[in-house]
Amino acid sequence: MAARTCHRCGAPAGVASAPANRPVFCCAGCLVASQIPVDAKGNYPVNAALVTVLAVGFVVFNQLLGWGLVDFMADQGRARAAALCAFASLGAGAFAGMIAVREQVRGAGGVRVLDSAVVAVAILLVAIGVALGAPGFGVTANALLLGWCCRGLLRKKRVRNPDDPV
Ligand SMILES: [Zn+2]
Repeated sequence: MAARTCHRCGAPAGVASAPANRPVFCCAGCLVASQIPVDAKGNYPVNAALVTVLAVGFVVFNQLLGWGLVDFMADQGRARAAALCAFASLGAGAFAGMIAVREQVRGAGGVRVLDSAVVAVAILLVAIGVALGAPGFGVTANALLLGWCCRGLLRKKRVRNPDDPV
């Protein structure tokens, strides 16, 4: 089977099991970007992809907020509140990571080896973070995961011909 390329940026993408008539994407970023059309006035119509982006942004914000509050609470001698913030930060990060991975798999049309490797590293970092009670590891894990899942956005949208294969 011919190698598939990303529907948005043209980078190598997709897995062998992805149906040939369905566009594939190199990453979640390209998938979501291609689903957020900008209308003639430059407005973003609200759709599921846009809501997903906003939801991930909101959750990541809470992850960072929780992380920031851990030291603050600990400084105030509120160990329980600090632990709760650490837990909330890790939980929020895991949620955002799962959304990113779900979109990544959807875009590629299946699970790819490199994606799995990055997810494994992220899970390892989160496990270390939980073991040490250090939500900063979760933040690092998500920076890695989200960076990986959005890397196609660094590439320009390619110009497509109408007769290009999907
Ligand atoms: Zn791409």
